[in-house]
This record gives sequence, structure tokens and C-alpha cells, in this order.
Amino acid sequence: MSTVPRLEQSEPFRWQGVDVLDYKENDGSFKGVNRQVLADAEHGQGVSLRYFEVAPGGHTTLEHHEHTHVVIPIRGAGSALIGDQVVELALNDVIFVPSWGWHQFRSTETEPLGFLCSVTVDRDRPVKPDAAQIALFNETPAIRDFIRY
Ligand code: MN
Repeated sequence: MSTVPRLEQSEPFRWQGVDVLDYKENDGSFKGVNRQVLADAEHGQGVSLRYFEVAPGGHTTLEHHEHTHVVIPIRGAGSALIGDQVVELALNDVIFVPSWGWHQFRSTETEPLGFLCSVTVDRDRPVKPDAAQIALFNETPAIRDFIRY
């Protein structure tokens, strides 16, 4: 990465010399997710651009944090909780996760969900919901039925 003007795809949704990494330390809060880092601090933009892929039937961690995300789905199909809304994702949509907005991304049962996600290099750590927050989620049926732990 870094000084080359172009990072080429080596095959669909894989980039030359970019490792497929674990999504994060496995704490049981997600299912079937991996990560590729396409651009990071060395690019000097203060932004890290990642590609995440959620296998069919999988989901990312339900979390929130002060930093924000911009997300662009580019593969497959899925949906997301963003703040207090469950949204269907269409390829090439641009999704904005606001500061302290709860979020979780899910693929469908039959298709993966791949998305680009930008984030600041310097950022706070994600926070997962506690029991009180889960009780609040459960008051809204659309959210209760969507989220996975
Ligand atoms: Mn996040």
C-alpha cells in the first residue's frame, strides 16, 4: 500500500497484496465477517478505508461510538440498523452512520454483503449495548426483531 497510484483488484472483491483479516477479536458479537484494509494512516488523509464482507446469514457487531462511518455497499445484499432505523441496502447507496448512532449490518440468508467503510484513523473504541440499552431496543419491534447479538 501507500505510494502506488492504483491498488488493483486481483479478483472480484480482493485487492493486490491486501490480506483478508479477521473483522476484530472474536468476542462472539458478530458472525461471518472479514476485513481488508485498502488505505490507512500511511496515505496521509487521516482516514482509513476498509472493505468488509459479511457471509450469508452473518452480521457485524451492534455498536456505537463517537466517530462516524460512511458506508457504500458494493456486493450482495443486506440491511442495517442505523440509529433507530432499519434500512434496506442497495448497491452503491451511501450510508451515513452518525456519531453515537447504533449500527449493525446484516447480509441476507442467501447472499453476502460487502461494503466499503471509511473511518478516521484516530478514533474511540466501539461500545456495545448494555442490558438497559437492550431493554430500550426491545421496546421497538422493528429494532428488536432486526438486531443480533
Ligand atoms: Mn462502527
